[in-house]
Amino acid sequence: MNDKTKKDYIQDPSFCPICGSNDISAGKSFPDLTSLFQEVECLYCHATWNDIYTLTDMEIVCVPDLPELQVIRDLKKVAEKHGYKLIKL
Ligand SMILES: [Zn+2]
Repeated sequence: MNDKTKKDYIQDPSFCPICGSNDISAGKSFPDLTSLFQEVECLYCHATWNDIYTLTDMEIVCVPDLPELQVIRDLKKVAEKHGYKLIKL
């Protein structure tokens, strides 16, 4: 497989990088702390490969409005004002 085929596949991972068939099937995935491997098989030529995903970004979806969080923020402010630092036990 040449670099162009690999680049094309990464842009649009919907075809077999060996024979070009669109008849591919994703199998098991193996998550790591910051990456994920997913097995893929071509149902036409039976080549197999791994798609490798890495964590590139994150976004907060929901911040719970817990009163405890406000108490912690207030304590932090008071502590910092007096030159102390809160530590989590
Ligand atoms: Zn194939």
